[in-house]
Amino acid sequence: MATSDIINILFPLFILTVILLGMLVIVKIRRVKQLQSQTEELKKSLDDMDEQAKLIVRTDMELNKIQDELDKKITGLYALQRISRATSTALEENQIFKRINPEHLEDLGFERASGFLWHNEEKKFILQLNVGYSEEEINRIKIFIGANEERCLKLIASEKTFSSLSQSDNLIAKEEMRNIFSVTSFIISPIISQQGNKGLLFVGTQNTETLITEGDEELIKILATQLGQTLDNAHLFEKTWRAQQELEDRVKERTRELTLALEEVKKISRRKTDFVSSVSHELRTPLTSVKGYTAILLAGKLGKLPQEAQERLEKINRHTDELVHIVNDLLDISRIESGRVIMKLEPIDLRNTVAKVGDLLSGQLKEKNIYLDVIMKPSACSVLADNSQIERVFINLFGNALKFTPAEGKISIQNHKIDKMVQVDVSDTGCGIPKEAQEAIFEEFFRVDNAINQGVKGTGLGLALVKNIIEAHGGKIWVKSKAGSGATFSFTLFAAP
Ligand code: ADP
Repeated sequence: MATSDIINILFPLFILTVILLGMLVIVKIRRVKQLQSQTEELKKSLDDMDEQAKLIVRTDMELNKIQDELDKKITGLYALQRISRATSTALEENQIFKRINPEHLEDLGFERASGFLWHNEEKKFILQLNVGYSEEEINRIKIFIGANEERCLKLIASEKTFSSLSQSDNLIAKEEMRNIFSVTSFIISPIISQQGNKGLLFVGTQNTETLITEGDEELIKILATQLGQTLDNAHLFEKTWRAQQELEDRVKERTRELTLALEEVKKISRRKTDFVSSVSHELRTPLTSVKGYTAILLAGKLGKLPQEAQERLEKINRHTDELVHIVNDLLDISRIESGRVIMKLEPIDLRNTVAKVGDLLSGQLKEKNIYLDVIMKPSACSVLADNSQIERVFINLFGNALKFTPAEGKISIQNHKIDKMVQVDVSDTGCGIPKEAQEAIFEEFFRVDNAINQGVKGTGLGLALVKNIIEAHGGKIWVKSKAGSGATFSFTLFAAP
């Protein structure tokens, strides 16, 4: 085979090999490029992941911080609640601050505190709270506050909280504060009460790691506000307590005066009773003689008297009878009042008493054609009383009803039981008693000043006697009436067991 033939055969082979190699190189290059781009992408992904990991760590840190802050806030709020519970029950101003203790402060993240209130009369700040300071330290603080009254008052007036976190330090220099109060971080909050109390609450810590936050400022501000409100409550309580004390003192004084006055009245009343009793007694003897001699003269034992003398003597006799009646009533009243008449209490049936008195006055009832309506419930008839005295009560009440009720009128008697008492009501259709006289008619010698009374005989002693008798039985008597439309006298007695 010729060389040219060999060349002819090898050349295409060579070309083919070159082409194949070329294609192989191209494929490899493509692959390398592909790999390169994949590597790029991987790197980018790795970078992204790295970024994300960093973000996650940052977020986690922030979350932890927020959690810490939240924990701190919750602890602070609990501490505030405890302080509030401890101080709000203090009823005196100087007790309020004494109830704040180191544990409370520790929960708020502080270990030192002091509080001052402005004294309006003494015109200076008075120390109220000291937690964590020695005698020497607190004296230094007192001197500082005393020397900076103006600045402190301005701070209170601004109603703003000032702390080591505050940007502006134009009110009180922060560094000065740190030195005086021996702390690294601090908060001062004004205490203001509606009643006019004002002061400053100072809290601080020496812990260099503790950083005051806005949350801390907020809590101390709430605490200062709470203290202001508690001061208001204490003032209000003190005011009410003082008013009550004054009232009690006045009531005591008045009671003492009234007791003295009552004693005096009792003394006078006793003297009056004694006087009435002795006068009545003294009158009885001459009256008995007058009556005796009149009777002798009237009986003609000293010779027949001329007609005129006879008539005058009969008048004297009648008037003497009336006088004896008055003297007897007066004596009875004074005896009952002074307790010299003992009521002979026994079970009596009121129906019998009413019937007896009705009989006694039947003539007068008939004369005026007055209807007597007796409606006595049997269940309320048995009372514990002195029969003869109760008869006098009925005679007087019936007698009055008869006197003051015009002809054709009606008198009714009713009874009922209330617990242990029996109540009797004696009503009439007479002239009635004006409201203003209804209490006075039970006093001795009182008679209503009206035309009817002027035409009716009476002494004004009957009801006074009745009242004395009823009260000596442990009962009560009263009247209900309207002028012109009758009267109802009611009295109570103990029901017989
Ligand atoms: P006296 O009847 O002797 O005047 P009393 O003490 O019994 O004295 O009564 C005092 C006054 O009360 C009477 O004067 C009369 O003005 C008034 N009074 C009493 N009972 C009645 C009555 N039933 N109706 C109207 N007035 C009465």
